[in-house]
Amino acid sequence: MNTIGHLIGGKTVTSSGRVLPLNNPATGCQEGIVTLASASETRDAIAAAAAAFPAWRATPQSKRAQVMFRFKAELEKHADEICQLVSREHGKIPHDAAGELVRGIENVEYACFAPELLKGEFSKNVGPDIDSWSEFQPLGVVAGITPFNFPVMVPLWMYPLAIACGNTFVLKPSERDPSAAIFVAQLAHDAGLPDGVLNVVSGDKEAVDVLLTDPEVQAVSFVGSTPVAEAVYTTATHHGKRCQALGGAKNHAIVMPDADIENAVQSMMGAAFGSSGERCMSISVVVAVGQETADSLVEGLKSEMASLKIGSAENDANDFGPLITAEHRDRVVNLISSAESEGAELIVDGRSPKLPGNETGYFVGGTLIDQVTQDMACYQQEIFGPVLCVVRAHNLDEAMQLVDDHEYGNGTCLFTRDGEAARYFSDNIKAGMVGINIPLPVPVAYHSFGGWKRSLFGDLSAYGPDGLRFYTRRKTITQRWPSAYLRESSSFSFP
Ligand code: NAD
Repeated sequence: MNTIGHLIGGKTVTSSGRVLPLNNPATGCQEGIVTLASASETRDAIAAAAAAFPAWRATPQSKRAQVMFRFKAELEKHADEICQLVSREHGKIPHDAAGELVRGIENVEYACFAPELLKGEFSKNVGPDIDSWSEFQPLGVVAGITPFNFPVMVPLWMYPLAIACGNTFVLKPSERDPSAAIFVAQLAHDAGLPDGVLNVVSGDKEAVDVLLTDPEVQAVSFVGSTPVAEAVYTTATHHGKRCQALGGAKNHAIVMPDADIENAVQSMMGAAFGSSGERCMSISVVVAVGQETADSLVEGLKSEMASLKIGSAENDANDFGPLITAEHRDRVVNLISSAESEGAELIVDGRSPKLPGNETGYFVGGTLIDQVTQDMACYQQEIFGPVLCVVRAHNLDEAMQLVDDHEYGNGTCLFTRDGEAARYFSDNIKAGMVGINIPLPVPVAYHSFGGWKRSLFGDLSAYGPDGLRFYTRRKTITQRWPSAYLRESSSFSFP
């Protein structure tokens, strides 16, 4: 049985204290254990990162970028092994795991570009013989805390850029599927990353609490659920750290009467049920404008859902796999049941999928719920399962009001053929990432990722240009080399 530990100062270590089982969600069988870092082991990781910082900060930017180029090559070379680890612990189907890895690698490619991005700003002769420039210096030790649903991509949102900017890093991946994050960090070492620059602690709240309070940690990047994101942000900032904490979501797709309904149905299928709905950008609510639109959408979705292929990662032809744990499966099933008892109409019920050979896995089938209203638990809460709720609205303003009123504001999209409506929507809607006829508007690596409202705590989004700002601090230097023949007498007025 695999025992997963930590990577501290370039060495693999396991703890002797608390452990958790690592179950394969497709079978429910235990395949390993993760040893949970104690507070003192977490402090060891921070100390290793702090010790590595001076030399790494002084390493020429091009040398740091070269490590990232080699890291990208290692990730591509070991893609199959990485995807297998993701499939075994998360349950993702290989094609989905491969997609996650590709999006992660794009962030490594962006980090390769750091020397260009860190060039700073320069002004000559801002005064007599005076030049001024701003440079972007690394912060020191940075911590990253990541969720289970993208065990490879979300860590890669963080540390490649942080490290390329000259910081050192302590990553705390999800304790539910940590193996891929540890394996990938080892590949970074194979690419030439010096020991201590990147450390990984497998752990839970005990490790997180140290990362949020230890004075050596300068900044914290967090991605996970909203209650934890808010608590992390409050504690980290209270301890004087820079913090960006990305939280949960309830992403609405609005479908207008003039939309290409067939295209909207196809888009909704992947966006709602891909990765079992365990994506923070999944579409979980479709708002149909007009009764006819709603009826056609429901009919189209119902018919497409009849051919959804659900099962384990062993079959790459499956559309999606199991949920992460038995507890999470039960929570999703309970939310579906609550919708029924609150008066919604269950069009496709995935609570008891028939999957011969996979009876012990944590599966929920694709579920479609019509006639959902704002007061229902299935509408208010992030379900994080393969469940799509249909809400009926009379017009675009009413549909947009639903999005604006929801506590989350991660992603949203509009399906229409009307450019004026699209422009009005993207201009005014209260969400951070907006798609027009695009169901999952996940920004590419050279933009930045972040929601509004209670989907993001902090000022800067993840990765891309905001990531670069987050992992550096500005220093502005004003310098004078006076010419002997231009000596000035003392001045006491403000320069
Ligand atoms: P989670 O909040 O349970 O866990 C996230 C991380 O926080 C993990 O590393 C976990 O060990 C740690 N953690 C959990 N409880 C903690 C506590 N009480 N104190 C300190 N640390 C704690 O989230 P999850 O279930 O792993 O991931 C799913 C959630 O993440 C969903 O809500 C999803 O929307 C969100 N998510 C958001 C984004 C985004 O970019 N906004 C991306 C991916 C996932």
